[in-house]
Amino acid sequence: LSIPSVEPLTASKLRVEPSSSPKAIPDASALVFGQTFTDHMLTCKWNIERGWDAPVISEYKNLEISPAATVLHYAPTLFEGLKAYKDKQGRTRLFRPDLNMARMLRGAQRMAFPTFEPEELIEMIKELLRVDERWMPTEPGTSMYIRPTMIGTRASLGVGPSTEVLLFVIMSPVAKYYSSGAKPVSLLCSSSHVRAWPKGTGDCKFGLNYAAAVAPQMEAAQKGYQQVLWLLEDELTEVGMMNCFVGRNTPETGLEIVTPPLSDIILPGVTRNSVLALLRAHANPSHPFTLEGVPSQLTMSEKRIFMSEVASYAEDGSLSEVFGSGTAAIITSVERIGYKGGDVRVPVEGAAASGFGPVAGALYEALQAIQYGDVAFEN
Ligand code: PMP
Repeated sequence: LSIPSVEPLTASKLRVEPSSSPKAIPDASALVFGQTFTDHMLTCKWNIERGWDAPVISEYKNLEISPAATVLHYAPTLFEGLKAYKDKQGRTRLFRPDLNMARMLRGAQRMAFPTFEPEELIEMIKELLRVDERWMPTEPGTSMYIRPTMIGTRASLGVGPSTEVLLFVIMSPVAKYYSSGAKPVSLLCSSSHVRAWPKGTGDCKFGLNYAAAVAPQMEAAQKGYQQVLWLLEDELTEVGMMNCFVGRNTPETGLEIVTPPLSDIILPGVTRNSVLALLRAHANPSHPFTLEGVPSQLTMSEKRIFMSEVASYAEDGSLSEVFGSGTAAIITSVERIGYKGGDVRVPVEGAAASGFGPVAGALYEALQAIQYGDVAFEN
């Protein structure tokens, strides 16, 4: 489905109205994820008759929408999450924004929202970063989290196409994620809820997917687990809000890292994409890239994984590690999985020192080096 747009979204029409009341910038160490916002936001309004209005960067402030706006009733809302990092030369670097834009556009099509030229939105995000430059954290491990969002604002209780849409971008400076060192997490397998299902919307960043995930997350927390391991029947899909990876090592197969293949039950993670590229580059003898301390005899596979298999690998000692990947934490290792009333123990070799399993730790270091521009890598 493609919604025609009379007037395209155009970065050259962007108007900047500087805030007259700039806020004090908190110390980076005091930042709680997603609770502090910069002085400005970008807003782009779309209407079925006019197309995209001229975009504006103006003071960060509350939105004014009708209580009948469809977003408040039927959830036409989608979002993205990406980060900008300050490199040693003082330049601000966006990590793979093209992939976030591609995912956002796919979601927009599924949501019957208007589309736009990704380059135009990236250009405007860069301008927003320039306008709020003084908010860009510079300490090692810090970054700027960028949240593009689209909502349906048509004021009508009729369920139907979003004839009015608001695209906005807000930004939140973030502290070093693992400020007191990385710690492996515990997961509870979801047995009575699914996050995504075939032909559903789990591969899009729709607000509705996240709203329904909160109660199962709270149930897991009540039972003493930090996050949900989302299964579809017995099949692994995602770890909380991260893509999942399982490592297995046997004398016959060597070290194999497996992640579920992309489909309608998996969010196509930008970090996932980089993890695959890095592990494949590492395993390729003719590629110059290597991961510190990881055996070069390694296979990176995209194939379906079942929890019964993970439990049997833990049993026979071949399970080497489990980890998740995502923009917020980059890489998170797993130490324990609640499954069928018991706990599957996941080795986290070296975790006492680093908080990561061996491949997870090397990936975390490599990804950060790429994100901060210390190492060049194409993916
Ligand atoms: N899965 C889900 C359900 C997510 O919400 C996210 C976070 N966007 C991810 C995976 C990881 O995606 P990314 O690496 O693009 O942040």
